[in-house]
Amino acid sequence: MGDFKIAVLGAGVVGLTTTLELKKEFRNASIELIADGFYDGTTSFAAAGLFHVIGDKVAETEDIAKKWVYDSYFHWDNMKSSVEASAAGVKKISGYIFASEDPTYVRDIHLEKLSHIHRPVTDEELAMCPGKWKYGCYFDTLLTDPSRYLNWALNKAKSDGVKIQQKKVKAFSDLGNEYNVIVNCTGLGGRVLCCDRKVFPIRGQVAKVEAPWIDNFMFGDFETYIIPGFDSITLGGCRQYMSYSREVSKYDYLSIKERCENLVPSLKNAKFISHRVGLRPHREPIRLEKEYLNIEGKGMKIVHNYGHGGYGVTLAPGTALNAVELVKEVLIEKSSKL
Ligand SMILES: Cc1cc2nc3c(=O)[nH]c(=O)nc-3n(C[C@H](O)[C@H](O)[C@H](O)COP(=O)(O)OP(=O)(O)OC[C@H]3O[C@@H](n4cnc5c(N)ncnc54)[C@H](O)[C@@H]3O)c2cc1C
Repeated sequence: MGDFKIAVLGAGVVGLTTTLELKKEFRNASIELIADGFYDGTTSFAAAGLFHVIGDKVAETEDIAKKWVYDSYFHWDNMKSSVEASAAGVKKISGYIFASEDPTYVRDIHLEKLSHIHRPVTDEELAMCPGKWKYGCYFDTLLTDPSRYLNWALNKAKSDGVKIQQKKVKAFSDLGNEYNVIVNCTGLGGRVLCCDRKVFPIRGQVAKVEAPWIDNFMFGDFETYIIPGFDSITLGGCRQYMSYSREVSKYDYLSIKERCENLVPSLKNAKFISHRVGLRPHREPIRLEKEYLNIEGKGMKIVHNYGHGGYGVTLAPGTALNAVELVKEVLIEKSSKL
């Protein structure tokens, strides 16, 4: 397709992944990535980066959700086997999920089909960690470490010719009329930019520690998880609805530390590195759709791709591909739609 001008708003995992997919599809297009926060100024920086989808209604229909999950899985799986894997922070990882009350907590209906290994735990494994575990599952999946991916993807976008602009967009009208289409990947920013009350924050906090002897992930009750990345282990976590605080809470940290050490006692010897806090942009379903705005008499074409909640790393590639399809559609539609 031709010489279009496209603006992508947002430089989290969703905006960056969408930018790279757009550049693949529209090689001659001029693409600008505009965001007020980069790298550690995004929610994506706080993510552990594990590929999994449990529970929430991410898409309008099960079929759409399945397509996003499968497209995403194969994208990350290909990257894991590429020369870029280490620089981009993508690897395969296996581990355990345990539950003491709810057997559905240990199930991921998509990974049951996609993972190479996905089995119930044995009685010995159930007794491996302190706790009254009744249910458990051992499986493999993929991990994308945001500490690496966000840098890798931004550098790739730059070397692909994408222009980068640091700016807060207060309203779509700020962007004038120079773009053929605007792709909105602002995460929680969509709440203000689109007056969209369906997207709201679920605050999360994690601790990064050094514990190189841990190579499996572990999940327990009460949002407790231990996830080995490339350069550190992520200990989590919490889910606090409608909390906007980006401050580190020492109470959350103490609770996370205690829960993780109860699950894996050797973590008492881990060396603390840092805290990370992020506001998950929760929305049911994710907003992935076209919108035509009329601003001061001039038409504006927008493709929204935000509201990934606790699954932005997991679903960024699948939703990016879907966004590219919508961009194609709006670019060929006649301006009479506007
Ligand atoms: C503790 C924690 C652990 C997590 N673990 C996982 C996990 O293991 N797996 C997983 O898949 N997901 C996980 N998540 C969820 C994941 O982090 C999010 O779903 C993901 O980061 C959302 O990405 P995003 O690009 O949509 O948003 P963000 O990363 O928040 O990026 C939004 C971008 O938009 C920009 N922006 C917003 N408003 C404006 C504006 N008005 N003008 C200009 N720019 C704007 C921001 O500056 C930023 O660049 C976790 C989240 C947390 C908090």
